[in-house]
Amino acid sequence: MFKRIINYSNKYFNLFYLTKDITDLRTKPQISAADISASILSMLFSNLGSLNKFNASRDISAVKNMAERIPTASTVSRAADSMDLDTLRKILKSIYYKARRSKMIETHHGRWIGIIDAHEICSSDICRCGDCSIRNVSKAQGKVKLNYFHRYTAFVLAGPRFAFMLDIEPIYQHEGELSSSYRLLSRVCANYPKAFEVVAGDGLYLNGNTFNLLSSHHKYAAAVLKDERRHLFEEAVLLSEIVEPEIYADEKVTYRVWDHNLSEMWDGYSGIVRVIKSEETKYVRHHGTPGKWEISQEKTDWIWVTNLPSVVSLKNVVSICHARWQIENKCFNEIVSTWNADHVYRHSQNAITAFILFLFIVLNIFNIFFARNIKDRIISTKSFLVELVKAEFLTARWAHPIPL
Ligand SMILES: [Zn+2]
Repeated sequence: MFKRIINYSNKYFNLFYLTKDITDLRTKPQISAADISASILSMLFSNLGSLNKFNASRDISAVKNMAERIPTASTVSRAADSMDLDTLRKILKSIYYKARRSKMIETHHGRWIGIIDAHEICSSDICRCGDCSIRNVSKAQGKVKLNYFHRYTAFVLAGPRFAFMLDIEPIYQHEGELSSSYRLLSRVCANYPKAFEVVAGDGLYLNGNTFNLLSSHHKYAAAVLKDERRHLFEEAVLLSEIVEPEIYADEKVTYRVWDHNLSEMWDGYSGIVRVIKSEETKYVRHHGTPGKWEISQEKTDWIWVTNLPSVVSLKNVVSICHARWQIENKCFNEIVSTWNADHVYRHSQNAITAFILFLFIVLNIFNIFFARNIKDRIISTKSFLVELVKAEFLTARWAHPIPL
């Protein structure tokens, strides 16, 4: 399976041709950045989980180093410290365009939706680098205890079977998520002008700068409304008491939804916005007394703000706003639980970003491969496929990390 997915990466995405452009700033390197990238990709495709395990499989000759092109863990680390991130982003872009042209990725209910959110990595009380963000986590009085961590913002495209990962941007020391997301959104709008029409985010993204930036790129925005934006929130709640909602059912959920057009209620953004309030009810069956099922009602309330035009139906707007969860479920949760993304292969700002971009490259190809190429019903989960790829890598005897 390792060889199959590597060959697939090359056949459809030219992956190990594109990696030839990757550079780093080591002086007089003995092993090229392209070979190091090949090692990193093989390690990530096989989900080895650490550079030490890569070293071990190299040393026990499962992966033969006959051509002396397989780096040690420390060489990988040094190269990752200064690896050229722009080229990694270009590779991601090339994979996206191939996938889109070849219809390997699909819309979310007929629309291309971008999702943005932040994620934290490598929180530690001990391990730190010069670029770590720091917070005080003291519990006892008079005793200072610090915690070191890195955060980044990520941008993905929602899809019916998997989310497609487009880009990340670090949140640097002493700056907030919005500063990082502004750089990220500016870059994805420039690099992927036709990849999405609307961006969904949590309450933080109900922000004039975000809405205006996206609007300047002819994109719409949708964000959760929390009661901090009092004018909008109170107006939406008041109007919902005097206007009848639209009621519909979809996949066992009943929706009561209000749609209000409001203007001049929000200082940060001058356009008209739609405030959508949705009350959602579903019946859930769960175990009650032994041998018996019980049915209970679950109710959730949402309020969002969006500048999507009225031609986009209310039902579609609700679906777009809910797509926001994909970045939690199909990106952050999955990369941590299945792909060990919280493990820091090398602790430096550049290396952390480089490894996540490499992982995004691997995940996009892996998800497409799993969705389109695996016909064997025994391989029903991604985690099982990951195990098969890993098993073949560990028992293989390659002259190079990548069998080309
Ligand atoms: Zn650090």
